This record gives sequence, structure tokens and C-alpha cells, in this order.
Amino acid sequence: MDVSDLSLAPKFIEHFEGLGIESLYPPQAAAVEAGITRGDRVVAAMPTASGKTLVAQLAMLSADGPALYVVPLRALATEKYETFSELPDVSVGIATGDYDAENESFDEDDIVVATSEKVDSAIRNGASWVEAIACVVVDEVHLLNARGRGPTLEVTLAKLRRLVPDQQLVALSATVGNAAEIADWLDAELVRSTWRPIDLRTGVYDDGTVTFDDGGRRTIDPGDDPPTTAMVADVIDDGGQALVFVNSRREAETFARSLGAREFRTAPDVATGIREGATTSTGRALAEAAEGGVGFHHAGLRAEHRSIVEQAFRERDLAVLCATPTLAAGVNVPARRVIVRDHERFTGEGYEPLPVLEVHQMFGRAGRPGLDPYGEAMLVATGVDAAELRERYIGAEPERVESKLDSREALRTHVLATLAGGFAENRSELDDLLSSTFFAHQRDPSELTDLVDEVLSYLDATGMVRRNDGLSATDLGRLVSRVYVDPLTGAAVVEALGTAAAMDRVTTLTVLEIICDTEDMSTQYVRTEEAGRLSEFAMRNAEQFTKPVHDFEGNFQSWLATVKTARILDDWIAGVDPADLDERYGVAPGDVRRLAERAEWLLSATEVIAEHLSDGTGTHRPTDPDSDVEYDTVLERLQETRAALLDVTAE
Ligand code: ADP
Repeated sequence: MDVSDLSLAPKFIEHFEGLGIESLYPPQAAAVEAGITRGDRVVAAMPTASGKTLVAQLAMLSADGPALYVVPLRALATEKYETFSELPDVSVGIATGDYDAENESFDEDDIVVATSEKVDSAIRNGASWVEAIACVVVDEVHLLNARGRGPTLEVTLAKLRRLVPDQQLVALSATVGNAAEIADWLDAELVRSTWRPIDLRTGVYDDGTVTFDDGGRRTIDPGDDPPTTAMVADVIDDGGQALVFVNSRREAETFARSLGAREFRTAPDVATGIREGATTSTGRALAEAAEGGVGFHHAGLRAEHRSIVEQAFRERDLAVLCATPTLAAGVNVPARRVIVRDHERFTGEGYEPLPVLEVHQMFGRAGRPGLDPYGEAMLVATGVDAAELRERYIGAEPERVESKLDSREALRTHVLATLAGGFAENRSELDDLLSSTFFAHQRDPSELTDLVDEVLSYLDATGMVRRNDGLSATDLGRLVSRVYVDPLTGAAVVEALGTAAAMDRVTTLTVLEIICDTEDMSTQYVRTEEAGRLSEFAMRNAEQFTKPVHDFEGNFQSWLATVKTARILDDWIAGVDPADLDERYGVAPGDVRRLAERAEWLLSATEVIAEHLSDGTGTHRPTDPDSDVEYDTVLERLQETRAALLDVTAE
């Protein structure tokens, strides 16, 4: 099937042809046959690099109204936004701030790219553009399996279906074992394919030889080098590039540095581009590796550096990229050889094997169509049994996608949002909504009953839900849902604000402590040698904290992480340089940005809650109602802190 055979406006046909897309890849043709351009509901399960983006575009451009493209990661949102923005006369909007509760409008856009959290937030805020959407495309729908975002995705899809019953849905998935089950849940036709635009060989390296799935072998003699280094040098000698997956940021940096010293290629322009403004050790290490034609890629990199690295690799200025698995999740940077050096990940308690699905997504990055004759993906068996590794990952079926909705965290948030958004006014309506989730499709929905009971009691006890004849969210509950925080955060903030309102000295540190001591803040790890200093700092400044430092109840060690995070933000606001923050706290610049964004969101959420309490309409005042509770100072401090944070972050 050719692109020119499609019933698309000529300008779009020209656009695709201009990109070298003339005939459809077989899975794309199958998706068209299944009805993506006729408004039908389709799940397309196809391998990495088999052209899912075009499937999405064909559905969105043929739709009878605006389209919504839902992505799991912000990095992906930007990439898709750029791709769609090149479509002629198509207006594209992007909503990525994961937590932003502001009511943005996309009424004028033809395509909106958004994370699932952002769509959830828009629904909670009653955004009008959501109900106008004619076609929803969900990218990486297999992430229904993910502990954090999966439940948000399934509840959001269930709600969208309630809001706009005749909406078209196209879900794109990696090849997973139970794609049919997902399609069945969504009332969609399944298109399933294992076709790839370029041949892929997969193999395991063991003791000087890579043995491939097709029985072929390649000898790679490492001499005195680590095997992975030899595997990289081998493909570069052959004129290809290598993508090496390792399991931590530090490993990515260290390995890139050691490879950079080999000077596979000289990329002085890339190095100069990175060095400009690179004040941190991460930036300097990246520039140094780039001089030798090597890059690294992980979530601690600054966005500018990340895109320089991706681009330089695509343009072959860099010969090697050492990456953590985040890169495999969708950013389009293929290489002839993919080497999965580490197949285990540290979970906090111990090492666990990577899921098959993740390893297959890494494999999928092998081979650049039009540039490489083939792609090859290799696992490295050092210190493990090669046969076992082969059995686990080569030719093995990926894991089933399983709903993670049966968690207290997920239900706490989504039960409140369902009531607050008016999707249910009593228990049976609540159960009804839950019975349209992926969980209910896979399991017996009554398995959720006990957890829902427990969550409702909690929401009642914290003043967010009222249980009388029916069920309803209180004003506080509606606010908490709209500002998109976990009810635990909402409750913690209400309590801490009450304490702060009665304190003599409320400073920036106070309000930062309030927002950092919540479920929604990801606090910074405290190294053993830091604990003493932090605890001294806390003692010295005890009167500025809402927690009783001298007479602490609960886990003091974990609160020190709160203090550390608050200090990082306090320093950042005061203008301390990222390089100094790195030195003082061991926090990478990319992480400081993320912390700052999170802090900004939590400060604005806390402000909304503080305003509600100071209006006196708050149903829950933890402090004695007769005492002089004065929220104004706290509110002022919150506003000042957020303004200062925005100033610094905008620089
Ligand atoms: P996926 O999202 O499935 O991983 P992409 O949609 O990013 O893959 O497509 C991978 C690459 O293939 C892109 O560079 C895209 O331009 C190209 N491509 C997609 N469809 C075709 C086609 N029918 N003909 C030629 N190239 C195509």
C-alpha cells in the first residue's frame, strides 16, 4: 500500500513522501486495513522502529476533530511534539508538566501531546478541550503494567470513555504476550506484527565468542580489555556505531570515560558545544568523553546536553553512547550494535534481572534503516551462565501486562478523583467505574472491595470525603484532587500548615520543609557522612521547622532526607551554582531541575490549600479552633518562595 493511495489531503501525502515514506510498512498497512483511518478502535502491537508514529499520524489526520496523543514520558512528548509540528497547517499543543494543575486550554489545537498524568489532571479540572477530542492515541500502552503510571493510564482511559463514548482509540504497544487482552478490554481490533524494517540478530557474548540466535558466531578477542570494550571497538572497526546499556548513571559515565580515552573518533565540535556552560562534573565528564567520540545518556543530564548527545549520535559524530535503560523507552537513537552489558538492576535491596520486555526494547534499537546492513544486539555473560542468560532473554516471550490498580496508593488517589470529578456519587457508581478498568477486565473487581473500603475510611478521616447517604468529596477533597497531589500529601500539608500558622518564625526553609515532607516529593538520599551535619543543622534551626526536632516522633533519619532536599532548594533559590550544589550535596544538575519543578508544583498546591484553610472554610483544623491560627504569614512565605523559585528556574 502506498502513501498516495490513502485518502489524505495531498499536502500530507507530500509531507510524508518528502520524508522518504512512500509505501507503508506491512504493520502500518495492516493497521490501515483494521480501520485506523476510518475512525475504528485499534490496538497495534509492533516492534520498536517498525513505524508506530506514522500509524498514529494517519489516525489523527483522518479523525473527525482534534486528536490527543498520550505519552508516558516527557522526553517522548517533546520528540513527538516536534515530529507532529512539522505536519503542514496542523496546530500542535503540548502539555507535559507532569503535575501542573493549571487549566491550560488547547481548544484551538488539532493535536495535543500530553502525558497521561496531564490528561488525568485536565479531566479533574473539567478542561473543555478534553471532551472535544475525536481521536485518542495512546503510545506505549503496555505501560499499563507500570506500578506508578499504569493505574493512572487505565483509570484515565476508563474516564475518557465515559466522557466521550464514541471517541476513536488507537493504542500502540510493544510486542507483549497478552496484547489481545488489552485490545479486548478496549473493544479494539488487534493488529499484531513482528516485522522489522531491518534484520535483527540477537546473541550472547561468552568467553571471546558471540553466539547468535541464528546459529552464527563471531569471535571477538578482548585481549586485556573488558569484553564490552572489545565489542564496541569491533563494531566501530566495521564502520558501525554502538549503544551500550548499563545499569546506573555512574556506570554510564565511568564506562563512557574509559571508552573516550580510546579516541574512536574526534568530535571537537560536540565537545565544545557541551563544554559551553558545563559547570558541573557531569557536564565536564560528558565533554571529555565526547572529545573521544563517546557520549553518555541518563536522567541526570541537563536537557540541552541530552539533546546535543542524541543529535550528535544520530549524525554519527559520536561513535558510542553509554546509556541507562531510560533511553530504550522510546527516544529514537538507533545504532548498528546494541550491547546490553548489565542485565540486572539494583532495586534498593538487591539486584534483580531486567524484565524481558525492557531488554527487548533495548534490542529493538539495533540497526539504522538505510545506514546499516543489519542490526545486532548482544548480551554480555560475565559472571553468569551464558545458557541461562540466553534462555531468559533470547527468543523468550516478554512478560504479560498486568494491571497494578490493586494498590493502596493508586486507589487512594483515583477513588478521591473519581468522587471529586463527579464520576460517582455513591458506592455502586464508584464500583461501576472501577469495573470498567483494565484490572476488572483481568481479574475479579470484587478483589478491590477491601482496599476501596480502607481508602474511603482514610479519606473520610482526613476530611476529604463525606460518607452519608452517598459518597461525596468535600471542598478540601476536591482541591486536593484538582491540584493533583496524593491525598497523603494533602493531609500532611493540612497538618503542617496548622503547625506553621502557630509558629513565631516562618521562613523559606519552613515552607520548603512542608512540601519536602510529603509523599509527592522525591527526597534526596542522605549519605552516612552527611547525617551528622544535617542533624546539627536541624538542631540549630529547630524553630524554623514544623516537626519538633528536639523531641522527634517517627523516623528521624528519613526526615533528614527532607531537610537535605529543603536545603538544596533553599540554596538553589539563593542563587548557589549547580556545580556547588553538586559538590555540597552530590546532586546532579538534571536532578536539581526536576526537584525545582516538583517544588514549584507542590508550593502552588500548598498555596491553594493554605488559602482554603485561611478562608476559614476548612473543615479540618488540626489546631485548637479557639487558638489564634494565622495562615497569612505562611501564605505570604509560600508565595514569595514560589516566585523566587520561578525566577531562578527561568534563568
Ligand atoms: P517506532 O515508534 O515504532 O519505534 P518510528 O515511528 O519512530 O518507530 O519509526 C522509525 C523510523 O522509520 C522513523 O525514522 C520513520 O521516519 C521511519 N519510517 C516509518 N514508516 C516508514 C515507511 N513506511 N517507510 C520508510 N520509513 C518509515
